[in-house]
Amino acid sequence: MTTPAITLSDGHSIPQLGLGVFKVDPAETERIVTDALEIGYRHIDAAAIYGNEEGVGRAIAASGIPRDELFITTKLYNTDQGTELAHAAIATSLEKLGLDHVDLYLIHWPAPSRDLYVQSWRALEAIQRAGQATSIGVSNFLVPHLTRLLAETEVVPVVNQIELHPYHQQPEVTAFGASHQIATEAWGPLGQGKYPLLEMPLIVSVAAAHEKSSAQVVLRWHIQQGHIVFPKSNSRARIAENFDLFDFELTDEEQSSITALERAGRVGGDPNDSK
Ligand code: NAD
Repeated sequence: MTTPAITLSDGHSIPQLGLGVFKVDPAETERIVTDALEIGYRHIDAAAIYGNEEGVGRAIAASGIPRDELFITTKLYNTDQGTELAHAAIATSLEKLGLDHVDLYLIHWPAPSRDLYVQSWRALEAIQRAGQATSIGVSNFLVPHLTRLLAETEVVPVVNQIELHPYHQQPEVTAFGASHQIATEAWGPLGQGKYPLLEMPLIVSVAAAHEKSSAQVVLRWHIQQGHIVFPKSNSRARIAENFDLFDFELTDEEQSSITALERAGRVGGDPNDSK
C-alpha cells in the first residue's frame, strides 16, 4: 500500500505518513526500521542527535528498496550550527546513513541564543546546491524565526517540523507556514504519550464509531488536517496499526471536535529556550 504524498513548494513530493525514530534504541533501530519498511513505510524521520542513523542506514541497505522510493529526513543539531560545522555534520550523517543524499535536511531547533540559524540556513542552501539534500527545511521555528529567515535568505523552507497534537496545534505558526507554502510536519503527533489523549472519551467514542483504535483516530485527524506525520513506536504491531489509516474518514464534525481540544498544551521544549 502507498500513502498519500504531499507536493512541497520546491516540486518534490513527500509521503504524508512515515516512521519517527526519536528515542529508538540504536541497538533496536535496524529491526524497527526494517519492520516499518516491510509493512510499507517509505518515509523515515531521523536526526543526528537521536544517535541511531547507522541503524536506519543498515535497514535501508538491507531492504533492497530502490533509493528513489524512499524518503529519508535527518536534522542538523544545535551544536553543529554554523557554516563549517553544518557542512561537516551533513557529511557525517550521510556516512552514517550510508547515503549520498537525504531527501530532506532540517535545522533541528532555532537555538536563538546562538544566533546562528540564518548562517546555518545559508549552509543548508549550499548543501542543497551540492546535491547532498534534495529539499531543505526547518524544525521548531516560530513566526519570528521564519520571518527573519525569509527576509535574510534565498530559499524558502519547504517544511517546518513542529510539536503538534490536539492539545497544542500552534495555529499562528501553521497559518504563517500555509501563507508561504511551508508544509507542516507534526512531531509528537500522539502527544508523546504525555497526557491521556488516547483515553479521552471523545477519542474513544470516535474510534468505536469507526472500529479503529484511538491512535488511528488521532493520526487520521492529522492526515485530514494536511499534516505530515511520523509516529514512533518500537512495536511491530503498533507500527502496522499506525500505517492503517486510509480505509476510513472522519466526518467534518468529528474533525472539528478534535480540533476543539486545543489548549496551548506544549509537552516538549520551548523553541525560544533551545540552546
Ligand atoms: P509520538 O507522539 O509519536 O508518541 C510516541 C509514543 O506513542 C510512544 O510512547 C509510543 O509507545 C506511543 N504509541 C505509538 N503508537 C501507538 C499506538 N498505536 N497506540 C498507543 N500508543 C502508541 O511522539 P514522538 O516519537 O516524540 O514523535 C514522533 C516523531 O517526531 C519522533 O520519533 C521524531 O522523528 C519526531 N520528533 C521531532 C522533534 C523535533 O524537535 N523536530 C521532537 C520530537 C519528535
